[in-house]
Amino acid sequence: MQRGLHAAISDVVRIPPPSVDPTIKNYHWLDLITGLYDAYNKGAETVILKDANGTLAEGPGFNLFTVKNGCVTTPEHGVLLGITRQTVFDLCALHQIPCTAAAVSSEALRTADEAFISSTAGGVMPLTRINGDPIGTGNIGPITQLLTEAYWNSHADASLRSVVSYPDP
Ligand SMILES: *Cc1c(COP(=O)(O)O)cnc(C)c1O
Repeated sequence: MQRGLHAAISDVVRIPPPSVDPTIKNYHWLDLITGLYDAYNKGAETVILKDANGTLAEGPGFNLFTVKNGCVTTPEHGVLLGITRQTVFDLCALHQIPCTAAAVSSEALRTADEAFISSTAGGVMPLTRINGDPIGTGNIGPITQLLTEAYWNSHADASLRSVVSYPDP
């Protein structure tokens, strides 16, 4: 969270939607895990898989976002429509940041101003290097920072949570 993840784009292809529907959370992780080992071999910490068309899909347990000229983009097809991905759309709308689902190429990620990933396991998390090269300045970008803070601040929003009270032990 302090310095951003270092990811590698793998040639391991995300299993095609006609084989396993990626919009259903599933335990077919052979592609994601094989890609992860590929990324480790390349000295990275995590992996981004491409789909059969060669555009970027997602990684092991997270969705991908790029930021270019103030606009946020996330892969449209072949991915889990994660609840945190949806939260990023909601937070962008709240903060008047354009956010769209569209095809994202490897080139678009390499030349993005900022990038981040989303997952229930960690919220909005910065991605600062791809294939060893810095994304943008290589530091956590302002929109990523804003969305990370907005994500955690929303946990205090009474309209978004149900308080669970536990009896004293
Ligand atoms: C769980 C998961 C995500 C993230 O989904 P959230 O609902 O935001 O946690 C994205 N991609 C894959 C492949 C996943 O398994």
